[in-house]
Amino acid sequence: MQDPFRFGDQFGPCKIVHVYQPEIGLKATAVVDNVAMGPSIGGLRIAEDVTTEECFRLARAMTLKNAAAGLPHGGGKSVMLGDPAMPIKDKETRVRCFAKALANLDEYIIGPDMGTDEQCMAWVRDEIGRAVGLPGELGGIPLDEIGATGWGVMHAADVAGEFCDLQLEGARVVVQGFGAVGQHAAYFMVQRGAVLVGASDSRGSVYNEDGLVIEALAALKRGGRSVADSTGGRTGNDPDAVIGMECDIWVPAARPDVIREDNVDRLRTRMVVQGANIPVTVGAEKILHERGVLSIPDFIANAGGVICAAVEYAGGGQASAFETIEHKIRDNTRQVLTNVRRKNMLPREAARAMAEARVRAAMATRRWSIF
Ligand code: NAD
Repeated sequence: MQDPFRFGDQFGPCKIVHVYQPEIGLKATAVVDNVAMGPSIGGLRIAEDVTTEECFRLARAMTLKNAAAGLPHGGGKSVMLGDPAMPIKDKETRVRCFAKALANLDEYIIGPDMGTDEQCMAWVRDEIGRAVGLPGELGGIPLDEIGATGWGVMHAADVAGEFCDLQLEGARVVVQGFGAVGQHAAYFMVQRGAVLVGASDSRGSVYNEDGLVIEALAALKRGGRSVADSTGGRTGNDPDAVIGMECDIWVPAARPDVIREDNVDRLRTRMVVQGANIPVTVGAEKILHERGVLSIPDFIANAGGVICAAVEYAGGGQASAFETIEHKIRDNTRQVLTNVRRKNMLPREAARAMAEARVRAAMATRRWSIF
């Protein structure tokens, strides 16, 4: 048998709960990593192949992400084995049962993740009275609709510009992945005077050095088409063409590991602002740093979503979410990049050090440190 404490280190995880209910096919796990900063927030993921180890790693990522964002929340996560496209009735039964089983684990607040959505969070809240990522009728803030993460990406880019003499006004922007994050990041940057010159999605890309019309591209996406169907620029069916497009700010907002050591040399930009999660490998981040390209790590730049969830949990609305995201992401980006410059650290190392220092400071105030 594997050692159940094999993940344990100075930060956690403080609790791992396995939930099993054979009658309805429920097999799920919740990991509460570290709650020194406050009750943990983290999504419920449904997938065929999720493991306790993956759940722990995601929970730890949330501990650091919430701390880096400056939220009064620790990190947690949960996973449920199953097909995310299972019949809705089965999903409801399993999600409700899982939530009920966690009713007394009140240091964990469930949010949506892959395979779950606001409807699932409404079931969770109905069972145990707490969840984030709720439907609007229950006080939820529709973060993808309002562009919470894109709003934060824009502010990260704006502050980072102060560190490499680049202003949003007139900056050429390329966005990889024209979805919720990518479209809104582009929209808010263009509002500040930037020019969107390139965009891609899973089916292709489009480029126009004189600027693309965001609304026209968004309309294509809403109609189920691709940015490569645009008539507003030079198009192609290779989504990766976007990597070589010359610009000032390159925003990955699609998939993990899209920039690696074998293709990082194709990037022709002054700044990378990570909208997606882990879009740049550690090796590629090092190369960017050596080349003098500023790369703002995901858990600083794309924290708009978690900040929005925390504001929702505290009972705030959309306006307060935007204000909090702006304030926190600007402060955190400035703090991280100041340390990058002062200590010649990689941005990811500086961000991690900042997050860990905050968690340690909170742990020092607690009788049992991590919970
Ligand atoms: P989304 O599904 O709305 O959009 C993703 C877009 O990427 C789609 O247009 C898709 O066609 C495109 N895409 C997929 N593969 C591609 C490829 N190989 N090349 C180019 N484009 C490709 O998703 P989203 O909510 O915008 O999230 C994007 C990324 O940001 C994900 O990695 C997500 O985990 C991360 N993220 C999202 C949020 C949020 O608030 N939504 C917050 C933090 C991080």
